[in-house]
Amino acid sequence: MRPRPHAGDRRLSVGLDIGGTKIAAGVVDAEGRVVERVPPVPCPSDQAGIVKAVSVLVEELRARHPGTAAVGVGAAGLVHWPEGRIRTAPNNAYRDLPLRRLLQETTGLPTLVDNDANAACWAEYRKGNSAAYMAFVTVGTGVGGGLVLADRLFRGRTGIAMEFGHTIVDPHGSQRCGCGTVGCLEPLASGRALGRYGSAAAAAEPAGALATLAGGPGRVTGETVTAAARAGDPAARAQLERLGHWLGIGIATLVNLFDIELVVIGGGVAEAGELLLAPTRAGFERYVTAAAHREPADIRPARLGPEAGWIGAALLALDEGE
Ligand SMILES: [Zn+2]
Repeated sequence: MRPRPHAGDRRLSVGLDIGGTKIAAGVVDAEGRVVERVPPVPCPSDQAGIVKAVSVLVEELRARHPGTAAVGVGAAGLVHWPEGRIRTAPNNAYRDLPLRRLLQETTGLPTLVDNDANAACWAEYRKGNSAAYMAFVTVGTGVGGGLVLADRLFRGRTGIAMEFGHTIVDPHGSQRCGCGTVGCLEPLASGRALGRYGSAAAAAEPAGALATLAGGPGRVTGETVTAAARAGDPAARAQLERLGHWLGIGIATLVNLFDIELVVIGGGVAEAGELLLAPTRAGFERYVTAAAHREPADIRPARLGPEAGWIGAALLALDEGE
């Protein structure tokens, strides 16, 4: 077990989560208790604007909380570790943005910048469903994840390990991933995939519950599928089963490789609960190797919600900061 903040540790940490459309932020103590959260602000579309917005949030929060000892940022995209340089992101204008260095220069505080899924994984490890060997899988618009091995966040050589959405599960399929490859898990197991599955199901049954709830077969989203499934619609449930099947295959690979004991599922699509988790477990059990001869891995829902990103980033900055 790595050293943890000791009882009586009074340090505070500012955390931020830079997403594709908004920036969430707040302050936690060394135990991860939320001291303050601010309403999310829209994320500027240009790089200079993002740096400015982040700096302003840090200075505001720090002014109100003089015990602030560190700053942690979780950001969508590929983040070079340990430099905290954001190489690129699908929905933001970053191009090789040295955010950690810039924030350190303006605030003078130890700063950590990491991938948002790594940050959310750390929040879950510290505050939610936790194990020494665990994975966090986020199923939202895309699919991402973080990995804890022997109580440490595993980042790989340069910080871009655990790109779980790009696990190859179906190379002879027809769906091209946003990364350009055919066969990745993401286009088969994301919220976007659920919307696509639901649209096809609604088109096949234009008077069915899915099409009716969405206001037309072409208007089905992942959220509509989940709502219809909750209401008991068999066609909608079948789409979540399809998604869970693929997710379970991806998780089987993860467990085969790393012998982890716990997989926590978060992200918007995970709000479907057991409607998603039951087929995910079934897919996992079918494909994990030597199922009869190993300790079963638990697949459970995340305890932390959308705040996991900034809370985890703030905690990482205290736990790993120099
Ligand atoms: Zn991919």
